[in-house]
Amino acid sequence: MTEITFPDKDVVVLERKNFQSLLDALSDSGYELLGPTVRDSAIVYERIHAVDELPVGWVDVCEPGKYRLVKDKKKTLFGYTIGSQSWRRFLHPPTNKLWEATRDGNGFKVIQPEPDQVKRALIGVRSCELAALAIHDKIFSQGQYIDNSYRERRRNLFVVAVNCVRPGGTCFCASMKTGPKATSGFDLALTEMYVSNRHYFIVEPGSKAGKKLVDKLPVKQPKESEIKAAQKELNRAAAGMTRTIDSEHIGKLLNKKFDDPHWETIAERCLTCGNCTMVCPTCFCTNMEDSSDLTGQHAERQRKWDSCFTMDYSYIHGGSIRSSVTSRYRQWMMHKLVYWQEQFGMLGCVGCGRCITWCPVGIDITEEARQLTVTE
Ligand code: SF4
Ligand code: SF4
Repeated sequence: MTEITFPDKDVVVLERKNFQSLLDALSDSGYELLGPTVRDSAIVYERIHAVDELPVGWVDVCEPGKYRLVKDKKKTLFGYTIGSQSWRRFLHPPTNKLWEATRDGNGFKVIQPEPDQVKRALIGVRSCELAALAIHDKIFSQGQYIDNSYRERRRNLFVVAVNCVRPGGTCFCASMKTGPKATSGFDLALTEMYVSNRHYFIVEPGSKAGKKLVDKLPVKQPKESEIKAAQKELNRAAAGMTRTIDSEHIGKLLNKKFDDPHWETIAERCLTCGNCTMVCPTCFCTNMEDSSDLTGQHAERQRKWDSCFTMDYSYIHGGSIRSSVTSRYRQWMMHKLVYWQEQFGMLGCVGCGRCITWCPVGIDITEEARQLTVTE
């Protein structure tokens, strides 16, 4: 495993007692703050204003099919790893109006929604989630077909990443080469340190906007011992992940297993609830829904998140082409680990572990990949 290090320059230290100054500097620059908070006994990403809205002192326990928050005696701000939601909901919302139309004489007038120009700062983006963001950037804003709604939201984003010093119970980002330290795609990356009752953050700017913001903060130069301590924590987090996927070879290995009987074994447990697709930060399948009002004067088209686990999703004239559970689970996993590479030149899984935690029957993508590829 490659040793995790910090760059030689620009890295600074921000004391916990000054953390609010980071939020204030972003607010003063016109950003709406979105960050982690606790709701319904889970971490959710919502609008925040102040440091005490963060999950102060909460850590999560993630296992296949299980999630709970517990209080920790350390009053960390980012002691949890990830909750069920991913940041995609702010860039690729679950429901998105594409256009509306009103009757106009014998015809109709189409009204396009105003571009979303809200400046948003995402606080606490994990390294695996940055990788997911990069995947969506490629799909929605760098390919042949540009999604204007995504591009507008993405243009105005400020990203505050948080490196993981504690791996979650279902994480495997180290094997997917997406974490636990953020290496690109952020404006600022924080490493939260709690050493001998001293609570502080190592702050690494990743863009010009990030450097400009640091200039407004009461920071100081790091001591060598502080950098070394942070590196040690991050390397320990990488080594502490128990789950892995052989990200280099999985595509080729799995591609030979289309007819493997193990898919049937998985299908005996899978409820086709679609939870795994709803929590996944890289899933992006949608359906269109057209509606009109009772007067017939107004109609609109909404784009809504969908899931490859529904029968409707693969419905074409005459029926669903993936009517069995086996075919739907196989499509999901093969898309993530095989077809995505063929389509986009990258894997569609970033190793966040959400699909394992939030699967009601605890189906584990790493374990299923291992079972399917244990023999050539
Ligand atoms: S793998 Fe789990 S979360 Fe996904 S559809 Fe099946 S039961 Fe639901
Ligand atoms: S497939 Fe599972 S582990 Fe991979 S990115 Fe999606 S939710 Fe995370």
